[in-house]
Amino acid sequence: MTTHQHSHPRPWVSNKASQFTESVIREMSRLAAKHQAINLAQGFPDFEAPQPLKDAACQAIQDDINQYAITWGDKVFRDAIAAKTKWYLGLDVDPETQITVTCGATEAMMSAMLATVNPGDEVIVFEPHYENYGPDAILCGAVPRYVHLRAPDWHFDEKELEAAFNKKTKAIIINTPHNPTGKVFTEAELTFIGKLCEYWDVLVLTDEIYEHILYDGHRHVAPATIEDLKDRTITINALSKTYSVTGWRVGYIIANAELTGAIRKVHDFLTVGAAAPLQRAGAAAMHLPENYYTHLQQLYDNKRQAMLEVLDTVGIPYFKPQGAYYVFCDIDRFGYADDIAFTRHLVQDIGVAVVPGSSFFEDPVQGNRFIRFCFCKKPETLQAAQERLLTLNSEIKLAR
Ligand code: GLN
Repeated sequence: MTTHQHSHPRPWVSNKASQFTESVIREMSRLAAKHQAINLAQGFPDFEAPQPLKDAACQAIQDDINQYAITWGDKVFRDAIAAKTKWYLGLDVDPETQITVTCGATEAMMSAMLATVNPGDEVIVFEPHYENYGPDAILCGAVPRYVHLRAPDWHFDEKELEAAFNKKTKAIIINTPHNPTGKVFTEAELTFIGKLCEYWDVLVLTDEIYEHILYDGHRHVAPATIEDLKDRTITINALSKTYSVTGWRVGYIIANAELTGAIRKVHDFLTVGAAAPLQRAGAAAMHLPENYYTHLQQLYDNKRQAMLEVLDTVGIPYFKPQGAYYVFCDIDRFGYADDIAFTRHLVQDIGVAVVPGSSFFEDPVQGNRFIRFCFCKKPETLQAAQERLLTLNSEIKLAR
């Protein structure tokens, strides 16, 4: 993207806003539309949302739930979140003092950080990472400290993590299941992190938006269920991925009453609140029967299978995801200058949009042999992508 710079006696754009670029993930969706490419970049389903949610949203509008909800969330929705959280994570949450409803997980992370992190504080982020966390930290005036997740299994080095903690560390972000690698953090890993957080008095900000999308028997362990992390964890989630409604922008934060008090103030002045009728529909989502989640897992298991078959057929090496709906791939063998050149060719000439790996790394060079596909798509979409990607393969054979 080009930004137009005019010369003023002093810069009109703030230092903070100058420190990060626009989201590459969101940009890829615009490029996909421009080039009529199949969009396997930004993570959103191309299939229908559950009928009970759509009915509940329409009903809420007809019932005139059309004015502001309570700023920190409609009571009906907060009660439903508490009940669902008890069922799935086994956590006791007081909807009156421990839940804040937000405009998606994106606002949730921003509000939670602004409510807890001071300028100059350090925030630990595992890398590769979902691209929002860097700008979130900058907007708080905080300094992100990156700790590597190491291929092929995306484990972290305990010594490296230990060395990242210091007196300035205020928080650590844990995204599990992880975007873009599909890593699911184990109880042992979280317990290790918990000991460090306890020792250094550090908060945990989670992003658990893929908590129900798991493969091969992997189990979601919520950091808030780890003994040392119970009180110091700010749990972030949203309707977007579990209920296939990414455009609704409804998320929520669970934290102890003290932290929730601060988060609610920030949230109120940022957005006042999330869409009231969609919060009502959110309550319907939280009351879906257990088998909804079993079906969701099966659905995604099939989609992962289809995606991996596409990659096998085309010959793109990948890291098999344990959770979430992305697959991180190694493009080394294709011999392009970098991930940007490769993704540009894919979207412009082959007709498939993906996310360049560098957008998940602080130092672009570290991500330049990776790309990310998302596979929350209809079978025919993945099939069409395969047909286009096969052209890529014949190009490479020709080039040899
Ligand atoms: N999490 C999604 C992704 O990584 C995007 C979410 C968003 O764009 N807000 O593609």
